[in-house]
Amino acid sequence: ERERVIAQFLRDGVVRDYETSMVVPGGRKVWVLISIVPIAYDGAPSMLTTVVDITERKTMEDALRKAATTDVLTGIANRRHFMDRTEAELARARRHGRPLALAMFDIDYFKRVNDQFGHAVGDEVLRAVARVCLAAMRQHDMVGRVGGEEFALLMPDTTMESAVPMIERLRLTLRALRVTLPANSGAQDVGITASFGVSALQTTDTLDTLLAHADDALYAAKRQGRDQVRVAQPPQAR
Ligand code: GH3
Ligand code: MG
Ligand code: MG
Repeated sequence: ERERVIAQFLRDGVVRDYETSMVVPGGRKVWVLISIVPIAYDGAPSMLTTVVDITERKTMEDALRKAATTDVLTGIANRRHFMDRTEAELARARRHGRPLALAMFDIDYFKRVNDQFGHAVGDEVLRAVARVCLAAMRQHDMVGRVGGEEFALLMPDTTMESAVPMIERLRLTLRALRVTLPANSGAQDVGITASFGVSALQTTDTLDTLLAHADDALYAAKRQGRDQVRVAQPPQAR
């Protein structure tokens, strides 16, 4: 960075608000803005450098960015962030002619969990579901909470053929999940099931149609008895 700042000074004769980080004595990393102007010092051409510590502002920016993209309850991506990422991945898949799969799921009869055990237990279940999804995901997958008890999984570079067994495993893991209840709730733990819809990117798809196809498949799964994975029909069958 030092070389780069100096090169910029030599090229432009001045540096304004060059943003970088540095390690200060004691080992702490700080974010700084570096500005350099030429001056004559004791008659010799010199550089006057100011370094402004902007660590606090940076920390705040990071916190704001995290707050804007994260679902507060579960800590996973919120709906908007999930959609933004999906849109970007869709464009990338299209550019490189790569497959892409998307799954949506909705917890079955979740209202009953709230009604029977209270909203706090419902919240705990949602957090546990998010943790299960994170554990089931591969490195480039992404999970988001896209509705109250609705989640979505984005699987870049994944065909329908490989997405379905993964989602099927996730379904089984979720139905085996047990969330421990508070001592006075009359039962020891609560389990849930969920209904899934999976769609794979077709050449004519936009973000909206990709989502709509997963959603249609999800509602077909609901209609056909819940606790199952349904696959979006290819275009010729629609
Ligand atoms: P279905 O199998 O048809 O999906 O039935 P359902 O009961 O899951 O569906 P419904 O849409 O009737 O109810 C969803 C419930 O999810 C209603 C709402 O109270 C609950 N819910 C949504 N967001 C939250 C949340 O953040 N915390 C809790 N505890 N409950 C939530
Ligand atoms: Mg729902
Ligand atoms: Mg539901």
